[in-house]
Amino acid sequence: AIQLVWFRSDLRTLDNTALSEAAARGPVIGIFLRCLSQWQDHGHGANKLDFLQRGVHVLRNELEGYRIPLLHRDIDRFEAAPEALLEIAEQTSAEGLHFNQEYPLNERRRDEAVAKKLREAGFQVHAHRDAVAFAPGELLTKDDDYYKVFTPFSKAWHRRLDSDRLALKGEPVAQPATGVDSDPIPALPELEDAPVDGRLWPAGQNAAADRLQRFLRYRAHHYNQQRDFPECRGTSELSPYLALGMISWRQCLQAVMSENDSHLADGDQGLTAWVNELIWREFYQHIAVGFPRVCRYRPFQEDTEALKWRDDDQGFAAWCEGRTGYPIVDAGMRQLVSQGWMHNRLRMVTAMFLSKHLLIDWRRGEAFFLRHLVDGEFCSNNGGWQWAASTGTDAAPYFRLFNPTTQAQRFDPQGEFIAEQLPALAELSAKQRHAPPKDVLENLDYPPPIVDHKAAQQRALDAFKQLKNP
Ligand code: FAD
Repeated sequence: AIQLVWFRSDLRTLDNTALSEAAARGPVIGIFLRCLSQWQDHGHGANKLDFLQRGVHVLRNELEGYRIPLLHRDIDRFEAAPEALLEIAEQTSAEGLHFNQEYPLNERRRDEAVAKKLREAGFQVHAHRDAVAFAPGELLTKDDDYYKVFTPFSKAWHRRLDSDRLALKGEPVAQPATGVDSDPIPALPELEDAPVDGRLWPAGQNAAADRLQRFLRYRAHHYNQQRDFPECRGTSELSPYLALGMISWRQCLQAVMSENDSHLADGDQGLTAWVNELIWREFYQHIAVGFPRVCRYRPFQEDTEALKWRDDDQGFAAWCEGRTGYPIVDAGMRQLVSQGWMHNRLRMVTAMFLSKHLLIDWRRGEAFFLRHLVDGEFCSNNGGWQWAASTGTDAAPYFRLFNPTTQAQRFDPQGEFIAEQLPALAELSAKQRHAPPKDVLENLDYPPPIVDHKAAQQRALDAFKQLKNP
């Protein structure tokens, strides 16, 4: 009997739980529901939507290799998903619907509504665990609570991980023709921003697999030493592919094990450090389910709700446009806007600068990141922002505030990354690139610092202290 597979953030045919399980039961028809206005309301911008669009094209071609058609519907809003899927189920006389679970709140509500509607109409619904090793709720503390701190979470994760969870899911085999044809995929309407050059982020699982192989060959073994230096490009740059499921965490970990004597937590330090980052990704998905307030624009640390963020549109604009006068901050922001991606060290530096130095509500920064990131993912982005703003899990203690000049000296020692992103500073010495002196600035198209580090630090400390003793 026909099985429907609803693809969402799992745009691949290999190691895809829903697809694999469905294909084992009968001929498969794939579905993609485009929900543009909902995704835009969630804050995703042109870079992510364009990457997604290209990913769906690649997926359709790949599915055709198995004679699996891909139906495409523009439904705009999640609320329309139950009806759209029911209609397809009825038209195709399908037996059941399969999908891989997604964990942010609106996505979970959407899936519950879909399951209810289809089950009531007599269809089977199979919601699979795929994006994580442990479904949220499966990995709890001794007191049956969700972990609030990463290290014990990751220890439990390693302890309980077994070969079943790591096993790759079977590839579907080419099926007899279903008599259903794939739909054409309508072009994306014009979006507010133009997307970055698609060649920076070629879509699809083959592009992702190539990237993984290159990372393992050239960079992974030095990851622990090079991951913090934006100029080295020592990280995998796989985040957009993980975010849309063009590669799975299992594929990543299997590749690590084949390079590291079957180990994930011992052996090569570069590889084990990298595994840890993939666990962070899972951790934040658990947090979104365990503490759904974070999906409602609320801080994880509830006492920080009362923090008095500053209204400062000028400061915010300077931050967005990379004109704060702190070169490492500005270089990061320019990278974000020009490439749709920012190095992790700089995400931390720029996020802390906005939320601490400028004391501007982290939610404004979170939204700006999502608008530009090709890898924009609610859970990781929210987790990262709340960490930086000291409102989140594991949060940087409130008195911790990176000195942007020291960060530049440590992580871009020659100022090469700064020079690349800020051509106005390229002619300066390394030392001056980190903090251009006043007299040098007079002849440059680059602004002086918009805040004084020490004064800004004090202001942030005072604001947080006020929370403790109002
Ligand atoms: P690698 O270093 O190669 O890591 C491998 C993978 O692990 C990444 O692709 C990513 O999927 C995951 N990962 C790495 N670091 C983290 C982390 N700190 N938290 C969660 N997952 C992680 N990541 C996103 O995927 N989407 C986001 O929207 C996002 N927003 C962020 C916002 C802020 C303020 C901060 C501080 C971090 C954010 N991150 C986000 C996490 C991290 O910065 C990126 O995942 C990473 O820079 C991607 O580069 P990479 O693929 O080369 O990572």
